[in-house]
Formats: sequence, structure tokens, C-alpha cells
Amino acid sequence: SLSDRLTGVFDRLRGRGALGEQDVRDAMREVRIALLEADVALPVARSFIDAVTEKAVGHSVLKSVTPGQQVVKIVNDELIAMLGGEDAAPLDLDAKPPVVIMMVGLQGSGKTTTTAKLARMIREKHGKKALMASLDVNRPAAQEQLKVLGEQVDVSTLPIITGQQPVDIAKRAMESARLQAADVLLLDTAGRLHVDEALMAEMKAVASISKPHEVLLVVDSLTGQDAVNVAQNFSEEIDLTGVILTRMDGDARGGAALSMRAVTGKPIKFAGTGEKLDALEAFHPSRVANRILGMGDVVSLVERAAQVVEKEDADRMAERMMKGQFDMNDLRTQLRQMQNMGGLGMLAGMLPGMKKAKAAMQQSGMDDNVLVRMDAIIGSMTAKERANPALLNAKRKRRVAAGSGTQVQDINRLLKMHQEMGKAMKQIKKMGGLKGLGALFG
Ligand code: GDP
Ligand code: MG
Repeated sequence: SLSDRLTGVFDRLRGRGALGEQDVRDAMREVRIALLEADVALPVARSFIDAVTEKAVGHSVLKSVTPGQQVVKIVNDELIAMLGGEDAAPLDLDAKPPVVIMMVGLQGSGKTTTTAKLARMIREKHGKKALMASLDVNRPAAQEQLKVLGEQVDVSTLPIITGQQPVDIAKRAMESARLQAADVLLLDTAGRLHVDEALMAEMKAVASISKPHEVLLVVDSLTGQDAVNVAQNFSEEIDLTGVILTRMDGDARGGAALSMRAVTGKPIKFAGTGEKLDALEAFHPSRVANRILGMGDVVSLVERAAQVVEKEDADRMAERMMKGQFDMNDLRTQLRQMQNMGGLGMLAGMLPGMKKAKAAMQQSGMDDNVLVRMDAIIGSMTAKERANPALLNAKRKRRVAAGSGTQVQDINRLLKMHQEMGKAMKQIKKMGGLKGLGALFG
């Protein structure tokens, strides 16, 4: 899947301390192929890769402590932008009632089902009164289908009068909505198997008399590149206000969602996630991007890490380490940085590689208070002891333990950790800050 492909590329990126421009370009070539294989439209994939590459080969990214992580974050941010920004685009019902919502799309895309899902949502979540009308006169059972669904979601439908044309049904629906004092009128228009002139002409005629406030294009995400072409065709003919992607519960390759915004210029407002009438969800670009990248909270961890661990700090620490000058004061600084990042438990929960480390920590009796206790231990040392931990003989250890409310074995563990850090810190230039922390507890 797209997610698997990208995870592979990013694991390799993240696993490296130093990154050159060529590494980024190589990775982006792989990302481009993965996007195309997931049915992302070619021009969309191309501009995506260009945007990411331009930001990622920047000096500050490649020189940072965690260049691979930074590149992954840039990809994530661009994915969100490509999907329409951080937040879900809401249904806009802010107009004079009856607010008309017109549903358009090809036959079989899920239009009728989605109309009923939306009507249910308007009744339940917005607390508004809706009326639904089917303008599909091509298929005999279409109007009956909407009526049955209306009964299931407890939203009324326009009574069926056979032989009426779509524009006349739309007029009657508007009239009826006014008489009933309905807040919202949903028009389920006819679809065809292919985009054709007759379909477009009918759609425009209905739009011109009903003046829809929302025109929502319903597309089947499983149809991949076809869905993108359909969206392109519709958006050229009518002013869409949004897109609804159905069958997101199926194993769509994701490309349709990724291209939709770029191709229509309109947000994906909802995702259909099943046949049941409550299976309609607000479309959250940031969540979808995270799911595609399969990396959960790693991005926010990187953001936090970037705030607290400055590259200069890390470099200076590594210098001191190499010269054998990394003392308890430095260790304390490191511990406090780790606390700023949310502590060991949070690190372990977020970073895939830290799972093992967490288990090891728990086995050795470490818990989330360990950072605080270690800080207290260092605080109970004299300035001389901090600068030169080798001074800590048995007698001094007992004093420090009493002063910090800990046991001598805790002091020993801290000293052991300080030594271990010596080894790990030597690699910090090669491995980067987060990796360094991982090595500490791994
Ligand atoms: P229309 O021709 O565009 O009106 O499509 P329909 O609303 O009649 O839907 C066609 C089929 O797709 C029906 O069997 C629906 O239950 C199914 N369907 C619609 N939306 C979804 C969805 O989000 N997920 C799944 N799994 N099935 C859906
Ligand atoms: Mg239908």
C-alpha cells in the first residue's frame, strides 16, 4: 500500500544521521513512484515532490540534529496541505432557509446513500429540519430508494409524482420545503454511467432554479484515477463547493483523495466509510496524512524535540564528551531536556524504536519519576562531585542518597548511566539527538 511504501522510504531516511541533497532527491524519487502507484494524478505528484524537495534540501534541515525526521515532517506537512489544510471543511448551512444542498456525481458513486447520511447528520448533529428529494427520473426505483432511506434516517422525502421532469421536481421540492419550514433541502440528482452533455445540462438547469448553497460532488474512492477524471469534468462544468469521497472503508489506494483538492480546488468535506447510514465522517486532512504516513505521533515528537534540543547544544555536549569533560552538570542538562520532551514514558510511546527501551527500563525498575529522582541526586552532590563524579566513594554516595531521598543503588545506577552515555554520546554526531537518547536506554 501507499502507507507501506512510504514507511519503508522514511524508515531509511530516519535511520541516517547525516543527509545530503542527493539522499533527499533519491528518497523523493521513491515517494513519487509510490504516489503514482497509488493513483495520484501525475501533475499533482510532480508539484508535491517539487515542493517537498525545495524545502527539504534547505541548509537548516540537512544541518539539523535529525535531518531524516525533518524531511518526514516536511512530507507530512505537504500532504496535509495537499489534502486541504489542518482542519475538516465544515458543511456550510449559513444561508437563508431552505438552504439547498445539491448532490452530484456518477451513477453508483453512492450519491443517494450519502444524501440520506447527510440528512441524518443535519438532523442529529445540526439539529435542523431537512427535506430530501430525488430528481433521478432515469431509474424507476431511484426515487423509491430515497424514500426508504428517508424512513430509516427519520427525514421526510418529497412525495413521488411519476412523469415529472427533474427541473419540475426541484421547483416542487423548493415550494414544499418552504411550506414545511424545512431548514435544509437536499436534492439527489440523477447520475449516469459516464459524464455526458445531457447529464451536465440537466445538472445546470437544476442549479439555476434551486440556487444551491452547497454543491457536493460524490465520488467513489475505489475508482482511483477515474474518480480524479470525473472530479475534473464536473468541476469544469459546475461550481462545486466540496467533495465527498465514498467507500473509504474499502482498500482504496489513497490517490483519489490526494488528487481531489488539487484537481477541483475544493475541499473534501466528508468521507463515506460504510453502507450503514451513520457511516459518514468529517474529512480531517491531518489525520488522513498521518494515516498515510503510518507514523502516528512521531511528527509532534519531532516538533517538540526541535524546540528543546538545539543542534549547538548537542554538538557542544558531544565535544565535551569526547574530551572527557561531560560531567554531572551536563548530564543534568540532558535530563532536563528529556523532561521537557515529556519524559521517558512519552518518548517510549511515541518512537517505534523506543518500545524496546521502555521494556528494558521497566525491567530495571525505572519509571516516569526516574528523571526527577536523577535530577534530585545530582542536586545533592557538591560542585566538586558534579564536575568529577569519580570522587563519589561509598561514604559520599550515602550522603548524596540521604540528601536526595534515594538509595545508594540509585546513585550507582546514575553513575552507570553517566558512563553508558559516554559511549552513546560519542556517536551523537553520527546518529543525531533522538537516536542518541534511544541508544542510552536500548
Ligand atoms: P448512487 O447511484 O450514486 O445513488 O449510489 P447509491 O447511493 O445507490 O449507492 C450504491 C451502493 O454503494 C449502495 O449499495 C451503497 O450501500 C453503497 N455505498 C455508498 N456509500 C458507501 C460507502 O461509503 N461505503 C460502502 N462500503 N458502500 C457504500
Ligand atoms: Mg442514486
